[in-house]
Amino acid sequence: MVADLWDDAEARAMADAAGPDPRARALALRVYTSRLIGRDPDLVMHGGGNTSLKSTATDIFGDEVEVLHVKGSGWDLGTIEAAGLPAVRLSPLLRLRALERLSDEDMVAVQRLNLLDPAAPNPSVETLLHAWIPHPVIDHTHATAFLTLANLPEVAAATREIFGDRLTLVPYVMPGFALAQAAALAYEANPEAEGLLLVNHGHFAWGADARSSYARIIEHTALVEDWLARRRPAPLHPVAALPVADVAPVLAALRGALASCLPDDAALPVLDLRAGEDERAFCARPDLDDLAARGVATPDHVIRTKGWPLVVHDRAPEAMRAGVAAFADRYRRYFDTHAPQANGPRTMLAPMPGSVWIEGVGIVGVGASAGAARIAADIACQSARVRADGEAAGGFRPIGDADLFDMEYWSLEQAKLGKGRPPALQGRVVLVTGGAGAIGLATARAFAAQGASLFLVDRPGAALDAALAALGGDHAGHGGDITQPGAAGAAVAACVARFGGLDILVSNAGAAVTGDVATLPDATLRDSFELNFFAHFAFAQAAAAVFRAQGAARGARGAEAGQMLFNVSKQAVNPGRGFAAYGLPKAATFFLVRQLALELGAEGVRVNGINADRIRSGLLTPEMIAARSTARGVDEGAYMAGNLLRAEVEAGHVADAFVMLAQAARTTGHVMTVDGGNIEAALR
Ligand SMILES: [Zn+2]
Repeated sequence: MVADLWDDAEARAMADAAGPDPRARALALRVYTSRLIGRDPDLVMHGGGNTSLKSTATDIFGDEVEVLHVKGSGWDLGTIEAAGLPAVRLSPLLRLRALERLSDEDMVAVQRLNLLDPAAPNPSVETLLHAWIPHPVIDHTHATAFLTLANLPEVAAATREIFGDRLTLVPYVMPGFALAQAAALAYEANPEAEGLLLVNHGHFAWGADARSSYARIIEHTALVEDWLARRRPAPLHPVAALPVADVAPVLAALRGALASCLPDDAALPVLDLRAGEDERAFCARPDLDDLAARGVATPDHVIRTKGWPLVVHDRAPEAMRAGVAAFADRYRRYFDTHAPQANGPRTMLAPMPGSVWIEGVGIVGVGASAGAARIAADIACQSARVRADGEAAGGFRPIGDADLFDMEYWSLEQAKLGKGRPPALQGRVVLVTGGAGAIGLATARAFAAQGASLFLVDRPGAALDAALAALGGDHAGHGGDITQPGAAGAAVAACVARFGGLDILVSNAGAAVTGDVATLPDATLRDSFELNFFAHFAFAQAAAAVFRAQGAARGARGAEAGQMLFNVSKQAVNPGRGFAAYGLPKAATFFLVRQLALELGAEGVRVNGINADRIRSGLLTPEMIAARSTARGVDEGAYMAGNLLRAEVEAGHVADAFVMLAQAARTTGHVMTVDGGNIEAALR
């Protein structure tokens, strides 16, 4: 249920911070209620909705001009600031009302031209609607309850039943000049109304100030929620959640099936599964196919989720491949049918679903990055609630394919294609073992900087939590002792359950164990082998299984289907006194790199390693550095720089080398040395 979050003290503090000018104070309160709206996902989500304030401003000549502060594109209401509500001169916006038509490009241009600050973001595409309704403050949401109401077959009767004359209906028109015209006409036909219901789209309300408009948004939305709740049947008994170990193969196979929608050199999509009670109950409905055949809850969702979801009933990999192929066929037909009617050439987007309903499992968001997948999942889950409530209250009847196409292939959206190249490793899922350690975290940061989604594996505890907090963003982790049986499989399954798959394994965890061979306790060597060899081996096996599930088709065509990167060691080739128990398993891991490269090359899997030496880390602590430099009669700086380049090698250098290997196409079976130069440890 939506709630009125207005707090007098908070509001006063916001206004006071803006100073004594009443215009600045009104704008501060406008920012405040915009944030209150943006904070509730049942009002707006992910850049949806917009807000405005009519005010005055002083221009460069000192003249007072009437302006409209309206949400700028790229701002999210939940975190908006005054700069996100740029001022546009109102009188030219009002003059546009006299035009018969205005192209989207001209509308954007004239709005930009009238910004008081030329550096401000583009005003919302719904700017004219805000301008032409004369109320001082206007709010627009895509509230979940309003989306349900707005897509009912009997929307007019239901709206009248709930609101009487308080809301005016506006028939569906795509956002832009024509919608603003339709909304202004509807407003003028019933000027006493408190707001508008945009059929198949959302809700508008207004008021004399920020407080009263926001109060109406909440009151109206709560009325619709109550009305829907009275029609909602008892919740279906949800099916039990699938355990992670069973979810992972389904997602990996789905990701592999989705690969068929993309070129072989494109990153596979990231998946975001939502399997809470609501999603599982929804995905147990008998009418999934019927519900999936209809469009989106509000037009801009099509940009994030495509016009309809892929429904998976049979989770067998071949059945999912067939389902994806059928989706792509339907999508191509949709494009071929509607593209000729567009007002210019259109470039087809990848014919890949943006959301997937898996019967008995849950709802999956699909995106080019973890962030895009999260947004798609949020929208898909809201959309499922809208469908379920709509069906209970009369039906879900959204816009049809032709209107969907107009929105999805809007010229303003098409113009964005190809602009701004994504980071080189966007969407690649990278698992790093020992991810909380010095080299592991540096490596994770280096991959994240290239756009990858990171999954850190380390012992549970404060270090792992701190590493994840340091990474921030849409990254994840898993705590466990990787020397235990089954631990690698569980960690890889958790990664797949979180992101839908795995692209690059960085098998990094290790620990230096000391002792001479002649007197080494048997158990010490065996323990070292568990971490410094068998854990690498177990992660390689688990990763290979995922690569096969998601990348087999690509690998068979000679394209890359996964990567493994190992942190080996200088010890693997150049024994150090007292380090037998470390060097022996590392030598086996060095061989593992070459054996895996040999075995997996034909499947498109590249396998490479790094031989690093003398890096400050958990393996080389300050005490060890002090002891060794003393033993050699040099100071610590000289000890750490004891290499051909006379420069200390840092964790970041190892991290950069991992990223370089990850991007070195056609390189496999290679071990790169990162030690500042040491001829004794050079590979032949
Ligand atoms: Zn809207």
